[in-house]
Amino acid sequence: MCIPKTKMTADAPHFQIIRDIRNTLGYLKQSGCTGFDCSRASLETLNQLGLPAGPGVAPDRETLADIRTDLGDCRRCGLCESRTHIVFGEGSPNAQVMFVGEGPGFDEDKCGQPFVGAAGQLLTKIIAAMGLDRETVYIGNIVKCRPPNNRNPEPEEIRHCLPFLKRQVAAIHPRVICALGSVAARALLATEAPISRLRGRFYEVMGIPVMPTFHPAFLLRNPEKKREVWEDVQQIMKMLG
Ligand code: SF4
Repeated sequence: MCIPKTKMTADAPHFQIIRDIRNTLGYLKQSGCTGFDCSRASLETLNQLGLPAGPGVAPDRETLADIRTDLGDCRRCGLCESRTHIVFGEGSPNAQVMFVGEGPGFDEDKCGQPFVGAAGQLLTKIIAAMGLDRETVYIGNIVKCRPPNNRNPEPEEIRHCLPFLKRQVAAIHPRVICALGSVAARALLATEAPISRLRGRFYEVMGIPVMPTFHPAFLLRNPEKKREVWEDVQQIMKMLG
């Protein structure tokens, strides 16, 4: 079942107003105007809202919309051949927590949304147990097109797709990333170690703490592992304060 998209997108009217205010302040600053608050602190505050820069303002970092545009109708790897939809990722551009899975499954490929099948429903419950919701976090995958028969993505497919996820991480700059399952953890941490050894402690990628834990699909098959996942997400909650 596809989950209704949040209305809090960067295209929402109030975000457009904030963009306009920020761009106007940037233009005034570049014009030498001192009668308004054009301070770096004020502009940075507006940038922190995760909005794209406009004319007159040098962009501090690219936006999710920029990255989606660049991805286009991607045919950079063979997974494009059998996909129905590219599953770019979804959630808040200001998310404090980013969840990263390995790739879309059957339901996600049909919807174009990440984690909407049975594993996705479990992830939604885990997010709720953390006191968060899907609209305030960001959910993405290592590869954005469904591997045939839900096989693991090949290294070559990851090599082509992972740079886009890393750009999403840079655009969102979450306080913490939760890597779901071995494929996500290994790709993000550039290791071959098994998830059972990786989980339970923080690593660092792009200056951001990464907590690997078991994939929700694995939990559906091994419910006795829920306790370990709960321990891992509690560490995330503790880090968030
Ligand atoms: S998996 Fe990623 S790199 Fe490959 S076709 Fe899809 S979007 Fe492009």
